[in-house]
Amino acid sequence: MEEKNKLYFDGCDVTELAKEYGTPLYVMSETAIVGKFSQLKEEFLDKYENTRVAYAAKAFFPMAMAKIAEREGMCVDVVSGGELYTALKAGFPPERIEFNGNNKLPDELRLAVKNGIGRIIVDGFSELERIEEICKEENRRISVLFRVTPGIKADSHDYIVTGKKDSKFGFPLDDEVLQDQISRAIQSEYIDFKGLHFHIGSQLFDNGPYLQALDIILELTKKIREKFGVDVSEINFGGGFGIQYIDEERKSYSYFLDPMMEKMEKFCREEGMERPAVVIEPGRSIVGEAGISVYTIGQIKDIKGVRKYVSVDGGMTDNIRPALYQSLYTGVIANKADEEKTETVTICGKCCESGDILIRDLKVPEPEQGDIFAIFSTGAYGYSMASNYNRNCIPPVVLVKEGKSRLIVKGQDYEDLLRNDIIPEDL
Ligand SMILES: *Cc1c(COP(=O)(O)O)cnc(C)c1O
Repeated sequence: MEEKNKLYFDGCDVTELAKEYGTPLYVMSETAIVGKFSQLKEEFLDKYENTRVAYAAKAFFPMAMAKIAEREGMCVDVVSGGELYTALKAGFPPERIEFNGNNKLPDELRLAVKNGIGRIIVDGFSELERIEEICKEENRRISVLFRVTPGIKADSHDYIVTGKKDSKFGFPLDDEVLQDQISRAIQSEYIDFKGLHFHIGSQLFDNGPYLQALDIILELTKKIREKFGVDVSEINFGGGFGIQYIDEERKSYSYFLDPMMEKMEKFCREEGMERPAVVIEPGRSIVGEAGISVYTIGQIKDIKGVRKYVSVDGGMTDNIRPALYQSLYTGVIANKADEEKTETVTICGKCCESGDILIRDLKVPEPEQGDIFAIFSTGAYGYSMASNYNRNCIPPVVLVKEGKSRLIVKGQDYEDLLRNDIIPEDL
């Protein structure tokens, strides 16, 4: 039975979770995560043949998350040796791992090749050559896609727009280099050329830029066919589907994917070619709304006529997004969930930066020291971007499901902070 005036999340009393695990605390709802995977199955995987979902690990990827994605039949998109290692250690099937990134290190590529992962998405003018060398040494063959920057300007924060020409990601379209590299991949005995990849940005709500990007990719597909006599057999649309942080209207996966699939089918009919496999890489849209951050309210500073600062026991160390992208969030006092909101306050963190503000001008009931404060939609790029700034410990993560909770990441303690420190003998 849910009590009045308390915030519940996936059946758990958030105030009780704060007591049991301490604060700050990340809480992830397994029901919500699995729900998103189910939507993807219904609206994409089961609806269209020859499709895959590669969950973008960078959004949130402790080993337990790898397990959930694996159990739900997903692939995973990793962007570093660390994420790759996490997936492998969690028992993720290597053939379902896909590797992105604009500067994959030799050791990272070797780990990928050695383990026979499913795809490497080539994103750099000299990367293919390096992959070939490693494949030769390891006596392995690997499947690759090329990441292309379609030159589309998607409407989002500049730091999370990645599809324009002036970007550190991908091959510019009108570059000779891309043609040369594709030609090389097609001829190489170590490389299985599969196709093309694009990812135009993040937190997007309009399908227009996706469709424009796809048009450009399909043109390139045609060019490759004409020039090399080879059919692109796979196209990766990337991720970027927007979620609700405040009052944004989340669009369905179908809203983005149906018109894209229609465009693909039409193009392939006209060209008389088989429709390539289609892969998407959602991250935020799976875990973002599935997570909340839970804090205890500490100092309250009321600057009369100016602003009331309500400090919590975390901040930019557990959620850098407001400081980094001016991202907006909303939240509630979990132990006063039904009380009238009578005050406007600013929720700030405990770090030594004036930019360490989590929420500006939020209406809340009268806050008091010791209250539990919860921020919504922090499941993506919260824990995964956490830092030890000011030598704050990274909080634990609990996974909740229908009233049950389990720890999936232990919180750091002070000893963890010292683990890699060395005092040289001559000091
Ligand atoms: C970040 C990223 C994603 C995931 O983006 P979301 O906005 O979290 O869905 C997918 N693919 C690539 C290549 C990325 O860089």
